[in-house]
Order: sequence, then structure tokens, then C-alpha cells
Amino acid sequence: MSETIETKTTKTCPRCETERQLDAFYKRSVSPDGRQAICKSCDLARSRDRDDTPMRVSVEIKDMVDAYAKDQGITQREAADRLLARALFTNEEDEA
Ligand SMILES: [Zn+2]
Repeated sequence: MSETIETKTTKTCPRCETERQLDAFYKRSVSPDGRQAICKSCDLARSRDRDDTPMRVSVEIKDMVDAYAKDQGITQREAADRLLARALFTNEEDEA
């Protein structure tokens, strides 16, 4: 008269569609099964993707600094300082 409670020890990652042991998934207390939806290696790949974003953004900022330096006839260093100062201390456009 003993009931066997089936405990799932594996889980399929929706990202790589691979069935893995539960310890291949990071713990996540808010999840119903206590594990993250995607496996550790996918999570790692995803955070690597995320890390690419600031790189792309900084290229855009560099282009903006270059354009501003050229426009104002100042060095890129000065342009960066001015743009930063303006971004930090004013909310208004004060261009001529
Ligand atoms: Zn995966």
C-alpha cells in the first residue's frame, strides 16, 4: 500500500530543447519547480548576449562624441566631457 511519489529529476530546456538533470538548471525559488526555465549553459549564453549590448551602445556614443567634436571644432575628450556634463546637469536643449 505504498504510493510512489514520482519526483522529476530531469527537465527540458526550451531554449536548447535538451532534457537535462535538474542541477543543470539554476535554482530559482519563485519558479513552481524551484528551477529556472532555461538550463545553465543557455543562461550563460543569454547573459553573454546581454553583455554585447553595452558594446553596441558605446559605439553609438563614440559616434556621437566624434560628430560633436567635429561640429564644435574641439577634441573628442572635450566633446565627451561636455556631452556628459550636459547629460548630467541639464535637461534642456540649449543649442543655438
Ligand atoms: Zn538549454
